[in-house]
Amino acid sequence: MSLRHGRPYLAIPGPSVMPDRVLSAMHRAAPNIYGGSLHDMTASIVADLRRVARTTAHVAIYIVNGHGAWEAANANLFSRGDRALVAVTGQFGIGWANAVERMGVRVERIDFGRKAPADPARIAEALAADTAHGIKAVLVTQVDTATSVRNDIAAIRAAMDASGHPALLAVDAIASLGCDPLHMDEWGIDVLVAASQKGLMTPPGLGFVWFSDRARERCRASDLKTPYWDWEPRAVPSEYWQHFCGTAPTHHLFGLREALTMLLDEEGLESAWARHRALAGAVWAAFDAWGQGGDIALNIADSACRGRSVTAVRIGGGGAARLRQWCEEAAGVTLGIGLGMAEPSDPAYGDFLRVAHMGHVNAHMTLGVLAVMEAGMRALAIPHGAGALDAAAAAIAAGAA
Ligand SMILES: *Cc1c(COP(=O)(O)O)cnc(C)c1O
Repeated sequence: MSLRHGRPYLAIPGPSVMPDRVLSAMHRAAPNIYGGSLHDMTASIVADLRRVARTTAHVAIYIVNGHGAWEAANANLFSRGDRALVAVTGQFGIGWANAVERMGVRVERIDFGRKAPADPARIAEALAADTAHGIKAVLVTQVDTATSVRNDIAAIRAAMDASGHPALLAVDAIASLGCDPLHMDEWGIDVLVAASQKGLMTPPGLGFVWFSDRARERCRASDLKTPYWDWEPRAVPSEYWQHFCGTAPTHHLFGLREALTMLLDEEGLESAWARHRALAGAVWAAFDAWGQGGDIALNIADSACRGRSVTAVRIGGGGAARLRQWCEEAAGVTLGIGLGMAEPSDPAYGDFLRVAHMGHVNAHMTLGVLAVMEAGMRALAIPHGAGALDAAAAAIAAGAA
């Protein structure tokens, strides 16, 4: 006997839960790609991609996952031999740094560890030391999905400006767009990277790169770009096919159109941000209570520095791995694995997991995940504090008010 039969729930930080409406919107015959309504729909998607990032910048759409979107940004930003400064706050900062390094860019990393956000003052120091202004761009994730830390992008921009260094600011918002507040223009972001499968509630397969006029001018001569990755014709096409450098990703576009309507026109972006904050608050409250009576802790101690779409936690003694397995097999809830927190050979490898609360997620789903985790802790005799579900319910009640 298993209690998993019924609708499964994937609570991993991407791909996220897709609304039935998004799936239904994709369930249709392929449209003509040479004219007609697909062209109008693409124009409306481009306009809404600007709305979701709070920007008037250019946006290029690629048929890729997040790694592909990184590479698209890198190819346009840099020439071979250029320098980049990468602020690392988890596995995704490491991944972006490695990707751009392998493309021939000289990378300087500042590693802020796994439990703290990037310190803007240290970024400013590194820029101030670069008196020849050789660093072309600073790369940083808004939310590093592995650690669930949230970096203060506006503060990083302010520190960069104060240092008087002209480096561009490139931000990975793959895990946070549509979930955490983000203001591309107000915060002075030059290049923004995101993908379809997290807060945007659409299947993996579309990557987005927004770029400012400043970035466009400064990167015109970048020599890493090849025809497929060049953002210019995609963002400023003279013919429709150039948007996608070939066949349009027709069905992803139908799905994304529906998701953007739900997010921007029906719920409203600020309401979605508030929903994510409230749901995250419930998850944090539960873990705080569990931690009172067991070796259980949120990865990021300061709630002001936590992303609101995913929560990374530690459950000692291999509890995280056992709990993940129990939740999936006994209850139909799949939690995220720990990422980059310990080497596979380290006994602590099984101590980490992540709970996603990104995208098409509501109170009953989040409370359901927490209640299943509590059941699993009881079933597995993992020591934990009492009152977690009460605390989560109180957070939801307060968040809904
Ligand atoms: C998911 C994620 C990526 C990578 O996306 P893939 O689609 O897995 O390639 C990169 N950065 C962040 C912050 C992410 O959350």
